Amino acid sequence: MDRIIDTSLRSWLPVESTSDFPMQNIPFGIFRAGAGSPHAATRIGNTVIDLFALAEHGFLDGLGINPGIFNFKYLNPLFELGKKSCRTLRKQLVQIFEEKNTVARDRISSANDVLFNASVVQMLLPVKIGDYTDFYSSLEHATNVGIMFRDPANALLPNWKHLPVGYHGRSSSIVVSGTAIHRPKGQIKPANSDNPVFSPTRELDFELEIAFITSSKTALGSSVSTNEAEDHIIGLLLFNDLSARDIQRWEYVPLGPFLAKNFGSVVSPWVVTLDALEPFRVQGPVQEPEVLPYLKFNGNHNFDIDLDVLIQPEGQPETPVCHSNYKFMYWNMAQQLAHQTVNGCNINVGDLYASGTVSGPAPGSFGSMLEIAWKGTKPVNMPDGTERSFIQDHDTIIMRGHCEKPGLRIGFGEVSTKILPAL
Ligand code: MN
Repeated sequence: MDRIIDTSLRSWLPVESTSDFPMQNIPFGIFRAGAGSPHAATRIGNTVIDLFALAEHGFLDGLGINPGIFNFKYLNPLFELGKKSCRTLRKQLVQIFEEKNTVARDRISSANDVLFNASVVQMLLPVKIGDYTDFYSSLEHATNVGIMFRDPANALLPNWKHLPVGYHGRSSSIVVSGTAIHRPKGQIKPANSDNPVFSPTRELDFELEIAFITSSKTALGSSVSTNEAEDHIIGLLLFNDLSARDIQRWEYVPLGPFLAKNFGSVVSPWVVTLDALEPFRVQGPVQEPEVLPYLKFNGNHNFDIDLDVLIQPEGQPETPVCHSNYKFMYWNMAQQLAHQTVNGCNINVGDLYASGTVSGPAPGSFGSMLEIAWKGTKPVNMPDGTERSFIQDHDTIIMRGHCEKPGLRIGFGEVSTKILPAL
């Protein structure tokens, strides 16, 4: 087993047993302390570790990594070094912070520019996102939406089990956790009206998703096979793909989502590497009918990641509305990237590929309010006596994700978004 996921490893930094960020995680993010400039960071327990400062103190010497890449507002230059370099860096970080390294402990603890409490720093968008694709890879979600939007007898369209359906989204409006989003306005067509009206959305929704980030570029005309796909994927993020269902229903035929989806999508701040998630690989659902050869794959490419969604009305406690798992996804990320590139479409460092809503088979595991409240017919009761069929102004949507087995917990932290009234 790779030393970095040795579950017996402990850090000289404090890590609570319920922390998403033990020594075995070592995610990458971008943070800012006070009025300082943005730097690359990792996190152990509740401590954010400045990688630029660590490099300046000489702790990352000998890795062949220019310290300047940590003194930057995005992780792209680090990821561009490739998965091998990122793996070497993570191993070096483990050595620096493991319990027995008292020399490093004493030197780093006496410096005032390396360690920061997570509660006092600002986490920034970790990646300059190039292209953004949103897939639609949960069988349960696609079936539920097909039943509600189209035809219960033919919920899945004929192509769905033959290819990972997706669309090209917009990266300019992808923001980091903690960013508030105003309720979008647009054209909606009320059921009792012959014509559309212009209005703030009345059906604001979230989509619980996981996104992967690519760490290499390929040439136009080339393709990435399912066997090669994970060589190009550095890690994963939580992704809240905010959606306006009434705008979507009116606009989406024939070219798919447009303004219903591009007013804001929110990512968690820490890129959790595929290396850290290695112990949580699981087999995905059986794919029947058999897929075309370019979509066949070897090994397991699903991951057992527990996912939760909570709604917090202003001044009220968090109320859980969904408990799902990434392992339910019908199409895996290797197939998604193979399909994305099979026609010769090139990829770049910092592209983001979202999974599509992660709905599970049980009603409590649906990953959007559209499904949870079943198009408004089964509203969710909140502790303050109000109901939710969709998201209201001043609600905060919180998503959390983590993997767990005896002696090991690897998590993502959270992605949180407050909804403000329409401008
Ligand atoms: Mn989506």
